[in-house]
Amino acid sequence: MQTVRPHRETGVQSPVSPDLSRAAVVGAGPAGLMAAETLARGGARVTVFDRMPTPGRKFLMAGRGGLNLTHSEGMDRFSPRYGAGEALVAPALADFDPDALRRWCAELGEPTVVGTSGRVFPQSFKASPLLRAWLKRLGAAGVTFRARHRWTGWDRDGALCFEAPDGPHAEGFDAAVLAMGGASWPQLGADGRWTEALEAEGAAVAPLRPSNCGFAVAWSDVFRARFEGQPLKGVAFSFGNRVSRGEAIVTRAGIEGGGVYALSGPLRDAVAADGTALLRVDLQPDRPRDAVLARLASARAGKASVATALRKALHLSPVAIGLLQEAAHAQGRPLGERDDAALAALVGAVPVRLDAALPIAGAISSAGGLAASELDARHMLRRRPGTFAAGEMLDWEAPTGGYLLQACFATGAAAGAGALAWLAERRG
Ligand SMILES: Cc1cc2nc3c(=O)[nH]c(=O)nc-3n(C[C@H](O)[C@H](O)[C@H](O)COP(=O)(O)OP(=O)(O)OC[C@H]3O[C@@H](n4cnc5c(N)ncnc54)[C@H](O)[C@@H]3O)c2cc1C
Repeated sequence: MQTVRPHRETGVQSPVSPDLSRAAVVGAGPAGLMAAETLARGGARVTVFDRMPTPGRKFLMAGRGGLNLTHSEGMDRFSPRYGAGEALVAPALADFDPDALRRWCAELGEPTVVGTSGRVFPQSFKASPLLRAWLKRLGAAGVTFRARHRWTGWDRDGALCFEAPDGPHAEGFDAAVLAMGGASWPQLGADGRWTEALEAEGAAVAPLRPSNCGFAVAWSDVFRARFEGQPLKGVAFSFGNRVSRGEAIVTRAGIEGGGVYALSGPLRDAVAADGTALLRVDLQPDRPRDAVLARLASARAGKASVATALRKALHLSPVAIGLLQEAAHAQGRPLGERDDAALAALVGAVPVRLDAALPIAGAISSAGGLAASELDARHMLRRRPGTFAAGEMLDWEAPTGGYLLQACFATGAAAGAGALAWLAERRG
């Protein structure tokens, strides 16, 4: 006989039976592990496969930056962060929201804290204690882990095919959750090669593209040699009507950092469509234009050189002044030939021409992936009943700020709950 109990966070009614269903999860990142936990709590016997020797490598890397798990802002602001992917992610978020994620962390012995920006972190600002406690709990729930197993598709009978150290083989399961991530930082596991198997099935997969990425800029040799590695701080970046406050670093190849990442979706799409995109940098976002002008005019009336006026009157850093000189050079009109008003206008909107998005391998996350149209409301692949999908491999993108991990956890829980419901239905 089958008993039924509600899943703790999702409220999904789950079958619990002594005759356990076998479920596979492919991908041991946050999405896959959350699906595994949901399935195991619902009574399934779960095996997690991963092509890497150990689980959660990208999650651990995210921990190096403090592990921004989620954000404390209200759902009215949170949900639209997923842009065109909101319809795909929002139902999962409704069942497993930031508060649920924070409770889940606390249960694992890692209470969370809210930073000044509203971002949420574990108190330790690390991923390793959380992952360790989580894997222990999964092990206690009977979840087994099979390392160095690369999923390559399905065989004729619908069994999952793997390349493993002891050769290729296929294994059948009652249900499976695919959670193989995107294609950024492929050395950590997610290399995007799963797209081949799903495309071979005829599934719609939007090309994986860099998200939260840097951009190539053709800096002059002089600027690059002098300022490579230097941060632009206290500035605002804008593209079209979107503005982002944050930092960025001048790199050999171009420009990188949180302030630019926040605009990376529209910038990437514009570069792809038009060949270039014009990013604008406001070097004095907290000072009204009139005040910038007044300060510059007064400094220059005292016969200060332009560079000295910029440094003394506006406290601009050498790299910020270098950026102005770079823009002036590109426009063929040196800074010293501009009147105060033109100089103040340039300080408020320095143009930086972006020539390409930097490769996905160096991006924080991926855009594109398995199309929402391939999934039903419970995250099951329409063309593969019994197979579910979650995490960054789905076609959504979001800025940094905790939105990436929150969506991975939430869709992992949703796919796990969907798989449980499917197993329950099949068992009648
Ligand atoms: C440097 C860095 C810092 C980040 N910091 C943050 C942050 O602070 N906050 C935030 O919200 N997000 C952050 N992210 C993003 C976040 O880590 C990812 O969005 C998240 O890990 C994606 O989870 P996932 O489970 O979907 O995929 P992944 O974590 O990528 O896991 C996918 C797993 O699938 C496995 N796999 C892939 N293909 C196969 C296959 N064919 N067969 C078997 N296994 C396979 C991989 O080995 C991997 O273990 C950061 C990312 C990076 C690179």
